[in-house]
Amino acid sequence: MGIICIDADDFHEGNHKLPVLEKLHRNTGMLFTLFVIPGLCSSSFISEVKKIPWIDLVPHGWLHPTSRECEKWTYLKSKTYLECMDFMGLTKGFRAPGWQISSGMYQALLKHGYWVSDQHYNDDRRPPLLKVYHHRDEHHFHIGHTGGFNQNEIEIHLERLMDLKGDFRFIKDIV
Ligand SMILES: [Zn+2]
Repeated sequence: MGIICIDADDFHEGNHKLPVLEKLHRNTGMLFTLFVIPGLCSSSFISEVKKIPWIDLVPHGWLHPTSRECEKWTYLKSKTYLECMDFMGLTKGFRAPGWQISSGMYQALLKHGYWVSDQHYNDDRRPPLLKVYHHRDEHHFHIGHTGGFNQNEIEIHLERLMDLKGDFRFIKDIV
């Protein structure tokens, strides 16, 4: 069976669909790399979700007000942000809202030992030493409809996912 990494964006305390994810996990053994909006979560919510062995939380912006939140972040702002993420104990990876990532963020990720989930169109601007997980559309989802209707909202695909078989892994374990 091939390796499958299921990932979903925009997870936060007010938008988590945990019952749906649990149902999927129970039936398939699926693991979820969830790109979380940390500024929209309480610390108690984060610590409860971190106890779930089939979920891995990875930072996805701070408040994600738009898909361009991190587009122009300086190195200093990015570094301060990553220090805060370290403090929260999230996985040392990052996906920018809307894939809009600055050069300052790339440098900060590299310096702080983070990997990035990124698109191939950024291959030329990304520091060569920065570990990358290239976006794969097939197993990429959203939790809810934060930035407008998401065709890949995970619950819409529930039936198909319930039948999915594979060697499920977290992104952090293959990057
Ligand atoms: Zn997002």
